[in-house]
Amino acid sequence: MRILVSGASIAGPVLAYWLHKYGFEVTVVERSATLRKSGGHAVDLFRPAMDIVEMMGVLQPIQAKATGIERLGFRLEHRLDRHYELQISRLIGAVSDRHVEIMRDDLSEIFYDVTRESTDYRFGDSIASINEDPDGVDVTFEQGSPQRFDLVIGADGLHSNVRRLVFGEESRFATWIGGYLCVISLSHYSDLDGTSEAVCGVNRMVGFGAEPGLAGARAVFLFRPPRPLDYHHRDVARQKQLLREAYDGMGGEVPRLLSELDHTPTFYFDSITQLRMDTWSRGRVTLVGDAGYCPGPAVGGSTSLAVVGAYALAGELATAGGDHTRAFPAYEREIGDYVRRSRAFAMGAVKKLIPANRSDLWALVAISKAVTHLPLALTRALTRLSNSGVRLHDSVQLKDYSTATTHLPN
Ligand SMILES: Cc1cc2nc3c(=O)[nH]c(=O)nc-3n(C[C@H](O)[C@H](O)[C@H](O)COP(=O)(O)OP(=O)(O)OC[C@H]3O[C@@H](n4cnc5c(N)ncnc54)[C@H](O)[C@@H]3O)c2cc1C
Repeated sequence: MRILVSGASIAGPVLAYWLHKYGFEVTVVERSATLRKSGGHAVDLFRPAMDIVEMMGVLQPIQAKATGIERLGFRLEHRLDRHYELQISRLIGAVSDRHVEIMRDDLSEIFYDVTRESTDYRFGDSIASINEDPDGVDVTFEQGSPQRFDLVIGADGLHSNVRRLVFGEESRFATWIGGYLCVISLSHYSDLDGTSEAVCGVNRMVGFGAEPGLAGARAVFLFRPPRPLDYHHRDVARQKQLLREAYDGMGGEVPRLLSELDHTPTFYFDSITQLRMDTWSRGRVTLVGDAGYCPGPAVGGSTSLAVVGAYALAGELATAGGDHTRAFPAYEREIGDYVRRSRAFAMGAVKKLIPANRSDLWALVAISKAVTHLPLALTRALTRLSNSGVRLHDSVQLKDYSTATTHLPN
């Protein structure tokens, strides 16, 4: 059986790995000319995703590339003279007892390396049309020749092309959950070796720093305007102007960080958007990872969800002997609860990360003190009490597909 996957970042290569293991023939088409090197951001693998990468035999290279900061120093916008510290490693320890933070580009490269021999990767191309009949799917490409496949799977991210072609415009499924995210690299900061700081205000915060072992420093802006912003996603000048307006009058390091906008080599700006689809499969086409159920970038542990989703999809296809009419509903059932709980978690995380008033800001200070001073076991107990979804990832039970014997039609 021949399966076409669109997207070669996280979900795509993980899916390719497991599909090949079960005997499917996999082609992956990726729009970028090479593996994407966006300048990047860090992503999280929590327990279930860690268990999967271990089964894939790539735990060691992933751990070797692990990054992450121990402590985040921060100041409140209206009390810049006081400095607080949040022990990130202890906070993560309370959330998950098996976790790695790694740059997305590094993770993607590791997944690509472990699948490149067994997968037909086609870079620099994109699906132009998908036409299904009872026996298969005819696909045309922007560059390559038309081809027929048994199934097509969109692993092409939040702004998925496959989703648009099969299910319709993104605006039908995307819900703004109250924030904007901007990441820039800082070309004029050399004094941040291994440290991270933040300035937090009502409805806006910015963190900046250099992660240990990584070249270059970055700033992450998270803010909540009173209403959705009006801009075109390719109009970078307008996005920079909106960012300057959102941080107008914020003191501390912020004016210097904003001045970096004039010469930053990498600039990412997007709304924090959650995708809500009742079903993400139609006929011989389904979606995996951010394309189908992004709970919100940087707030919902979406990388772990993408890895688990890819593992479950391949496993259900193998179990059903390639019969998508049984496999796709089983896949949606298998991860449905994880998807719903990730959405709820992301909504809560946006509220906590971008405090909406002064008392929420002070709550951040209280959390930082508790996490720093309490023993880890007590911190765990408290975070469980204060937010029932906090052990979201570690509570996921992976289905064992190791006995799935695949009898695939030719
Ligand atoms: C700024 C930022 C910060 C983040 N921080 C975190 C974090 O702290 N923790 C965390 O867990 N997650 C974080 N995320 C989210 C994380 O990056 C995603 O959840 C994860 O990468 C999802 O993987 P994916 O493979 O589903 O999609 P993506 O990584 O988005 O990959 C989609 C792939 O499809 C390709 N593609 C797009 N269009 C086409 C097309 N037309 N044809 C072919 N290929 C196409 C893209 O080039 C890309 O390679 C963050 C995201 C952003 C943007």
